[in-house]
Amino acid sequence: MGASRLILPQRGHIPCTRHHAIDVDADLLRDTVKVAIVGAGIAGSYLGCILEEGGIIPDVYEQGPHDTTCGFRSCGWGAPSAIGAHLADAGLDLDDYYLEPMKSMEFDGLIARTPLCTLDKPALIRDLRARLKIIPHQLTDRESDVYDVVVDATGISRTILPPCTSDLTLPTLQHRVAIEPVAGRAPGPGVYGSQVPGLGYIWIFPLGKSQYHIGAGGLLCDNYAGILNRFLSDLSRGCSITHQCTCPGEIRVASPFFSQPLVAKRRRESGELQRIIGVGESIGTVSPFTGEGILHSMESARILADSWLDEDRYVSRILSRFSWMKKERETLDYLLSDSRDSAPRIRDRWRFYRNARRSGVKLPLQEAFRRMGSLTRWIEG
Ligand SMILES: Cc1cc2nc3c(=O)[nH]c(=O)nc-3n(C[C@H](O)[C@H](O)[C@H](O)COP(=O)(O)OP(=O)(O)OC[C@H]3O[C@@H](n4cnc5c(N)ncnc54)[C@H](O)[C@@H]3O)c2cc1C
Repeated sequence: MGASRLILPQRGHIPCTRHHAIDVDADLLRDTVKVAIVGAGIAGSYLGCILEEGGIIPDVYEQGPHDTTCGFRSCGWGAPSAIGAHLADAGLDLDDYYLEPMKSMEFDGLIARTPLCTLDKPALIRDLRARLKIIPHQLTDRESDVYDVVVDATGISRTILPPCTSDLTLPTLQHRVAIEPVAGRAPGPGVYGSQVPGLGYIWIFPLGKSQYHIGAGGLLCDNYAGILNRFLSDLSRGCSITHQCTCPGEIRVASPFFSQPLVAKRRRESGELQRIIGVGESIGTVSPFTGEGILHSMESARILADSWLDEDRYVSRILSRFSWMKKERETLDYLLSDSRDSAPRIRDRWRFYRNARRSGVKLPLQEAFRRMGSLTRWIEG
């Protein structure tokens, strides 16, 4: 077992966290603490698997397939290859899900190297779920009363926790298409901020076998269908494009700081308290600038497993690990506010640059300042 894994409780002395120890019978704890995870997306199903590795067997409630062709929540399936380490923690191999590398990506005309790839996220979630006891419906109030701990892993719907202190969500629209080059080369991966009015961008992510996700998302825009049609029509000059499916979506770009409370308590009919703990996008573990949430949701699940039943430690680790998301959210608030003057401040540009570096995207500082994502419009305007 790797060093970063869940610390296994030992009989008589449970290192609940790396700093605290509680004298309780570990087997008793395993047997008596009843845990429900609500939502088996990437965060909930990954958390379920790593908890099971630590001897905690949760019941996992999943409301069922989404109204999309793949049956899962709309997503671009893009992730840094560093996700492989998290998969290995759950005994999975990145190679089994790897679709296409995105070693170089176009950012509004600028080509940069990236550590990104696309992965078969539906297959990954299916394999994680296959190891869990999935209860295929929503958690009812009556069922809920049985559990000492209920984990809210319901993503954008955040069904169990109280509402975020200051939520911010971004609408999206994504097509899946097959592209065959007619003359010239097939398109490569790219992100185009200058084509979306307001704060947002178009992405084109290759999925292998001539398949692509092409989507648009942003704040202050209400015509994604038109924007994507224009983009596809430009693209079709050198390619034959076959439309396969389309799904609308939404991403929580609030950041964990503004998605508090991350934990809550509820009194059950018996009078006992129930702990409610959020993980993944329900608590905003998504980059506010880029909408990347797969890796960060898995990281939040790992932090929860490592701080199991120590909510104070969990909250402080989440807020500290994702403090950069708070800053990105503050930039969004600034750019969205009526009182802003026309250009982003130095600190906003710096945050965009840092965002790219954090994702391993090799953009030169000056170019990142000038071109990164949809800030182009503000900077040049
Ligand atoms: C269009 C789009 C493109 C994206 N592209 C990328 C990308 O390329 N890379 C990236 O890193 N991130 C991307 N994201 C973000 C990423 O998809 C999410 O951040 C990530 O999936 C969050 O995982 P999660 O498990 O927290 O939530 P979810 O994936 O939303 O999972 C929540 C689960 O809970 C279930 N559920 C909800 N309510 C209930 C209930 N009451 N009872 C039982 N079950 C319930 C849902 O059915 C779902 O299975 C994208 C998002 C969108 C919308």
